[in-house]
Amino acid sequence: MAARRIGKGRCLLCQAPATQALCRPCVAGLPGLEAGCAGCAIPLAAGAALCGRCLQRPPPWTSAAIPLRYAFPIDRLVLRFKYQGSLVAGAALAQAMLRGPQPHPPSRPWLIPVPLHWTRERWRGFNQARELALLLSAGKSWPLAPGGLLRTRRTPAQAGLGRQQRQRNLRQAFQWHGPELTGRSLLLVDDVMTTGATLRACAKALAGAGWLGIWVTARALDSNR
Ligand SMILES: [Zn+2]
Ligand SMILES: [Zn+2]
Repeated sequence: MAARRIGKGRCLLCQAPATQALCRPCVAGLPGLEAGCAGCAIPLAAGAALCGRCLQRPPPWTSAAIPLRYAFPIDRLVLRFKYQGSLVAGAALAQAMLRGPQPHPPSRPWLIPVPLHWTRERWRGFNQARELALLLSAGKSWPLAPGGLLRTRRTPAQAGLGRQQRQRNLRQAFQWHGPELTGRSLLLVDDVMTTGATLRACAKALAGAGWLGIWVTARALDSNR
């Protein structure tokens, strides 16, 4: 899928000639995140390292690389990618991630996409996190993990549940299927981080890794989403 030629020489956003999915001015003009919380990337007052929530519940990863804010036109690109299967929109997101702040794992990491439940993947046709991970893998020469996280059951709807119930709901939702992770550097890849609950649940299933980071396209700052 990802190998298909994309872009057709025109910027996806402004139609100017471009060698990648987006032209240089468009990629530079995407809504970035100011320096923020090291755990979840929400913007913080200068000098602070972690937000209140991450101080209270430290994230199970060492580093978070999240270059963009989930706002126009990122929201449109994500929707086109996710629900219309637009690979050029996915390539635009990957391009922005490869241009933004980079993860710095201590050794060559395995990229691990956040999985969809298979029923959802069958319906949608593909997992956008996996497509992103493939593009990032090509861009960085970092391999996809020889194995993956499996969603062990479809998580019931989260709406209307208290925070604790929500976490319980997700707690055993993922399982690692693959080689031993001890000492490895791992990078979880996803498109949008909202509360971070899914990423936390994935991270729990990767316990034992030597180093764990997350690499996510965009942070949603308003929790209505
Ligand atoms: Zn452009
Ligand atoms: Zn935080």
